[in-house]
Amino acid sequence: MSRPLRVAVIGSGPAGIYASDLLVKADQEVSIDLFEKMPAPFGLIRYGVAPDHPRIKGIVKSLHRVLEQDDIRLLANIEIGRDVTVEELRDFYDAIVFATGATGDRNLNIPGADLPESYGAGQFVGFYDGNPNFTRDWNLTANKIAVIGVGNVGLDISRVLAKTADELHTTEIPDNVYEGLHESAASEVHIFGRRGPAQAKFTPMELKELDHSENIEVIVDPEDIDYDEASEEARRASKSQDLVCQTLEGYAMREPKDAPHKIYIHLFEAPVEILEKDGHVSGLVTERQELDGEGGIRPTGKQTTWDVQAVYRAVGYRSDPVNGVPFDEKKNVIPNDGGHVLDGPEGEQVAGLYATGWIKRGPVGLIGNTKSDAKETIGMLLEDYDAGRLAEPAHPEPEAITKFLEDRKIAVATWEGWHRLDAAERARGEEEGRERKKLVEWEDMIAYSGPQDPSKES
Ligand SMILES: Cc1cc2nc3c(=O)[nH]c(=O)nc-3n(C[C@H](O)[C@H](O)[C@H](O)COP(=O)(O)OP(=O)(O)OC[C@H]3O[C@@H](n4cnc5c(N)ncnc54)[C@H](O)[C@@H]3O)c2cc1C
Repeated sequence: MSRPLRVAVIGSGPAGIYASDLLVKADQEVSIDLFEKMPAPFGLIRYGVAPDHPRIKGIVKSLHRVLEQDDIRLLANIEIGRDVTVEELRDFYDAIVFATGATGDRNLNIPGADLPESYGAGQFVGFYDGNPNFTRDWNLTANKIAVIGVGNVGLDISRVLAKTADELHTTEIPDNVYEGLHESAASEVHIFGRRGPAQAKFTPMELKELDHSENIEVIVDPEDIDYDEASEEARRASKSQDLVCQTLEGYAMREPKDAPHKIYIHLFEAPVEILEKDGHVSGLVTERQELDGEGGIRPTGKQTTWDVQAVYRAVGYRSDPVNGVPFDEKKNVIPNDGGHVLDGPEGEQVAGLYATGWIKRGPVGLIGNTKSDAKETIGMLLEDYDAGRLAEPAHPEPEAITKFLEDRKIAVATWEGWHRLDAAERARGEEEGRERKKLVEWEDMIAYSGPQDPSKES
């Protein structure tokens, strides 16, 4: 083929960016269009990672370098499956890689989960990370709060709830979030996990930094530190799990610290019911569990009622289907064989379509894990290309898709546009001695990242 291989990557989170980078580095001339539905790139790094994790946001710097490359073109503010169909895209590309990630919350099916103060963690994350698709106001009148789920997202929201608004003011949080958190009455956060220390899904560093704030004391009941043979084996098999256990043991054994806000981590407590009074959350009932000696747990029948006025359900994120692409409703992923999209679970390959990142293997793992995902997927794509298994598109020239988008009157946000938006957010932050202050409203973002009115340019 005398022209570059044309690939559309859908989703500019870490998975889509790493996939694009691997394609550019391949022994093959490529030209990539990276589609993104939001007016800004970076997926959950912008709209998931907690604002007080600037260390992680630093990964953006390396992803920035990837997107600076000429062979990658960002086409944002375009939702594939809504603004442009997958069938339409096929006319312009040899291959399409879906890296659409996850934004929704997995359900927790217990009575009371639909009460007004029972929140999906993702909703709260959407609020504090300034995602325009989520609410601008948050009810923070609860003094005692339950967080269900012993993973990193549970830690993030517990930390954000337990820190003071002023501690978070140094970060990139928008004004409405600062003002909301300023009114927060939260003084106790109770995290609940069904299983024990050796099964908790935290990562060691995130668990350790939970009480780095002067205002927070983390408390674990020594009764909750329990291991059976299977748990000991889990510790031996994973250094990271062992570190999690050590940190939890440390929290259980140390002297009390006099901090105004407490985060309790309760293990072996399975949520049973969220209690209601006058239409509002009035408590949480949990049932004590015990290790069964085989790596599992069993209920003991002993129930406890916790006095809380709000419940946050951090039991996992959930991916949404993309119109026109097969979806496995059970696993909430695009069915795939490690890279190729399949026409159903255990089905046949759909030629030219690929999946990577959270939409490929479900919403678990850190940003770094999406790198190995991309390696596997892009490996398969390049193999198909070399073997001549990709169909020739009708309009492979890069201008054809831009003309198509223009005709459809889509206000495309670009990489140059992101630079403008980035500069504007940094300037807003600088006025207050902060690195950045995020813009929240869609129209405010697109005013920078979208098409510019030439008549207004100086
Ligand atoms: C609350 C939270 C906190 C986290 N904190 C950390 C952390 O501190 N450290 C860490 O290493 N990892 C963290 N993670 C995990 C990390 O965010 C994920 O591993 C990573 O973002 C997954 O990458 P992805 O590209 O598959 O998905 P995403 O990051 O979700 O990116 C998908 C992108 O696709 C876009 N998209 C979706 N559908 C369409 C469509 N139809 N058309 C066009 N674009 C579309 C989305 O807008 C998004 O930009 C966190 C995750 C969450 C949920």
